[in-house]
This record gives sequence, structure tokens and C-alpha cells, in this order.
Amino acid sequence: PQVAMISVSGLLKEVVLLTESEALMKGCEIQLQPFQEDMIISGDIKQMKQVVLNMIRNAMEAITEKVDDAMGRIELGARREGAEVRIFISDNGKGMDICTLDRLFNPFFTTKENGTGLGLSVSDRIIKNHGGCISVSSRLNEGTRFVISLPLIQ
Ligand code: ADP
Ligand code: MG
Repeated sequence: PQVAMISVSGLLKEVVLLTESEALMKGCEIQLQPFQEDMIISGDIKQMKQVVLNMIRNAMEAITEKVDDAMGRIELGARREGAEVRIFISDNGKGMDICTLDRLFNPFFTTKENGTGLGLSVSDRIIKNHGGCISVSSRLNEGTRFVISLPLIQ
């Protein structure tokens, strides 16, 4: 792994640029919340990008799989919480039941016909290796919110 200083706002802006046209084609809008301040974390930029990309892809898929035609919305942002940053990715997609919520970080667990079930298990390992953690809350048919907590460089 290549450890470097990473600007959180730079990271999120770049991931939005990489995904917004694909999202619009699938009928979802990605909203990047304004940043109150820039925050710096230390880590592997490629791995961090992979984590956020995985979560946006999952959000787009959850929106596509939902059985209504409301506009899909993905919200992405970051906030300081003491010595940590909380990066959040919320969607108004299909949400998850308890069985899925219990297993989503297990390697090879997928509810998708062509899923690998590796995205979140790999993401969880990457974030733990960076001294952080991932939490998730979800409501079936309403949406899901992932929060990535990571230590900030002071
Ligand atoms: P994959 O995307 O290949 O299925 P992941 O590890 O990325 O594997 O996700 C595992 C499972 O977690 C998905 O199959 C899906 O059931 C659930 N999941 C992940 N993110 C979301 C989300 N934003 N909304 C609803 N379900 C989700
Ligand atoms: Mg995935």
C-alpha cells in the first residue's frame, strides 16, 4: 500500500466525477454535500477510492432494483467528529431486511444475480487497516446509509 496524505473533499469530488454520468443514465442524482472544512486522512488513495466507488455502485444498484420510479438520490458528504471524519453515503434505494443487514460484510454474500459479494468485505478490511470502521443503517423500501469513520491527521 502507498501511504500518503489524502484530502477527503478531493477524494469525494473525484469519485463523484467518475460516477455521475453513469448515475444519471440510471436515473439517479448524486449530491455532494458542501464541506465545512477540508480534512486530511492518511492512507492509500487507490484503496480509499475503491471503497467509496463500491458504495456508490451499491447505492446505484439498490436504486435500480427498487420497484418504484421515484428519482433515485445518492447523498455523499463528510463531517468532522472530534479527531475523526465521518464520510457518509446515503441512498433512497430498496433498503435491506435484517437477514441482509446481518451478512452484508461476509465475503461472497450477495443478493444479486451477478454479484460477487466481495465489495463490502474488501471495503471493511481496507477501512480497518486504516484504523477506521464502517457502520450501516437501513430501512426496507426506504434506503440505506453507510458511514465510514477514519482518524484525521491533525
Ligand atoms: P455485491 O454488490 O457484489 O452484491 P457487496 O459486498 O458490495 O457485494 O454487497 C453485499 C450485499 O449487500 C449486496 O448484494 C446487497 O444485498 C447489500 N447492499 C450493499 N449496499 C447496499 C445498498 N446501498 N442498498 C441495499 N443493499 C445493499
Ligand atoms: Mg457491491
